[in-house]
This record gives sequence, C-alpha cells and structure tokens, in this order.
Amino acid sequence: MLNKAILLIFDGLGDRPIKDFGGLTPLEYAKTPNFDKIAENAECGFMNALGRGLRPGSDTSHLAILGYDPDVYYSGRGPIEVAGIGLQLKHGDVALRGNMGTIDENMVIIDRRAGRILDVSPLTKELDGMEVDGVKFIIKPGTAHRAGVIMRGENLSSAITDADPHELNVPLHTVEPTDDSPEAKRTADVLNKFIKQSYEILKDLEFNKKRAEEDKYEANCLLVRGAGQYKHVPSFKERYGLSASCIAGGGLYKGIGAFLGMEIVDVPGATALPNTDIKAKFKTAKEKLKSHDFIFVHVKAADSLGEDGNPEDKKDFLEKADKAAAVLSDLPEDVLLVISADHSTPCELKNHSADPVPIVFKGGSVRIDDVTAFGERACAKGGLGFIEGRHVMPQILNLMGRLQLIGA
Ligand code: ZN
Repeated sequence: MLNKAILLIFDGLGDRPIKDFGGLTPLEYAKTPNFDKIAENAECGFMNALGRGLRPGSDTSHLAILGYDPDVYYSGRGPIEVAGIGLQLKHGDVALRGNMGTIDENMVIIDRRAGRILDVSPLTKELDGMEVDGVKFIIKPGTAHRAGVIMRGENLSSAITDADPHELNVPLHTVEPTDDSPEAKRTADVLNKFIKQSYEILKDLEFNKKRAEEDKYEANCLLVRGAGQYKHVPSFKERYGLSASCIAGGGLYKGIGAFLGMEIVDVPGATALPNTDIKAKFKTAKEKLKSHDFIFVHVKAADSLGEDGNPEDKKDFLEKADKAAAVLSDLPEDVLLVISADHSTPCELKNHSADPVPIVFKGGSVRIDDVTAFGERACAKGGLGFIEGRHVMPQILNLMGRLQLIGA
C-alpha cells in the first residue's frame, strides 16, 4: 500500500509543436530517459488544472491541483504572497503584494523594481505599523524588491484595483473600488492616502539619499497590487490528514505551501531560475519522506523559458531536470510519485495557454498503461484520459487508501 506521495509540478511544462523540432514540443523533443522510464511504469493522462478551455494562472492552478477549489479559496494573490513571507491574516484583513519601485515627483513610474533592489527591509520597517483612518498597515519585506502588505481595520474590502500600472513612464494608478460597497470605497481611499504618505516618508530617507548619490534608483514607492481578503483555509493536514512539506524556489509557490499550512523547506541552490539545483530539490524531497507524508516539489524555469519564447533552452532545461530525476528512480515501495504541470506555456504564445499537460502516477499497484514516454501526446493516450486539477488529490488519496466511501 502507498503511504506517502511526492507531487512534482513543472511550471509551464506543456507546449505546442515547434517547427525546428520537427513538429515536436520541447518536452517531446528533449531526451528524457528517466522521465520516460517513469511514464513507462505509470498510469498516464493529460490534464487542464481548471478544466477544458480555461487558461490557468499559476496560483489558481496550484490551488486546484492541491484540492482547494479556487472559487472558494482564492481571493487574489495578496493573501498567498503574505503567507509566503510568514505573515498570518486575521478575519477582515486585506492583503496585497507589492514592489518597492521608483517614481518621480509627478508620481510617474521610473522603475518598477527600484533597480532590482536586493533588500527592502530598511524601507519596509519605516512603513510597518503606519495607521491611516483607523487602518493599520503591516508591511514586511519579501525577497529582493518585494514586500507584503496587510491592511487591518474595520470595514475593509479587497474589491479594489491595483496601484501598480505594470508599465513604465505612466503615472501610478489611483486605487479604485471595483464594486459599489462603502467598504471597497473606504479601502481604496485609505490605500491612496497610505501611498501618498508613504512616498513622503520614503523619498526623504537617508537610505534613498545615499542611493541617489550612488546613482541608484531610489526605492520611494510601494507599488501595491493583487488585493485579497482573509478566508479561512483548512490546512493540508486538516483536510487530508497528511503532513506536508513544500520544496520550491519561487516566492509564490512557497506562499502556496504556507497558505495551505505546509512546512516550507529552504533548499540551497533552489533559485526558481534555469540555474536552479534541481537535484538538490529532488534529494531533499526524498529525505523529507522520512518525516512527512506528502511532498510538494515545484520547479519553475520551464515556464519562464516558455514566456521568453525560447524552445531550445526549455528543451535543455527539461533534459537537465531529467538527469536530476535519476535521484527519484529508487523511491521506497510505499511512495507514490506524481509528475505534472500547472499549465502549458507555449513558446509561440510566451504566455499560459489552456492546452492540457501530461500527468503520470507511478508507484504501488497503479494500473500501468501502454504509454512509454513522458510527453504531451504520449500521455494523452494514457489510462487516466483527460482529468482536471480537482481530480488529482482524490486520485492520490484513492491510491493511498484514504478516500472515504460514498454510501454503504
Ligand atoms: Zn505556472
């Protein structure tokens, strides 16, 4: 019987036929003997995390795959990001993510990341604890230029637009309510006041004067976006009885793990970039099986390379991942290995698409099918057929003998 599981998600893995690859996708064209061997001994299928014809975001697709219906549990990126930097939301809170950016005196965006500043803690500590119209702002640094923001007070709503215009040389957006509620209007008003007040504080800091002298972009504006409201989210352990561990390089994915109450494991060399140490992540996943029931491993770079429109590097990265996957060839007998993706990121689109992705379940007494390769079209012929993200956890629980009987 299977007692433990590793769920390995390659972000943006799926793709479309590439002319230079003879009409194969980067995954199909890549030499991946280890993944192919896993597929050969697995039950395979293809999946769209949100359902046919839906284009998944990385956040919603992960929630769906992990069994948390995004319609119920997702209210914006903010709550996930602040979970990732270790903040706890309370009932009524609104959470936002933000970049420390650079604006000029007319509030026009000069740089969205303040010259890719590496540490914003000297700035966030000046803003943390500010109060505007009875709303307290809790502000903590994230990785590099990022920060998390919690608005805590009465009558707040996440039905507001972003202040971050997501482009350069345009003025910072005024935050607007997106519904007619007085709460949304109040939240937008308070946030606009906060942004003005925080600019006044940040622009005069010695820290920024020094940056200006050194010809660096001043970090004088917190560009907030992705407002989301507190929702009660049962932890992975509460929901499934499985102790879970999250191994990821990217902040969003650590955030998803933290949002679902997983242990977050920092692996040296896990960068979320093509240079990431995949082998170290897989090794850590194996070690974590000793203390945890469920290991969620996220590997980011195939998505970024798809967004760059770079099939050659995407293929190379998948070959690198395949070499690292040798580590997973001798998993203990009671371990289920599931490999899939959150969505496709076709190089021709440089963006997410609704094209399904391959998925494989290997271990125990899964019904091994005739598929012998890990690829989009090969896995589409597998025994699982087409599934959605919300079917993944039930299938894992089924194979682990943990599904409840319906009826008698
Ligand atoms: Zn993704």
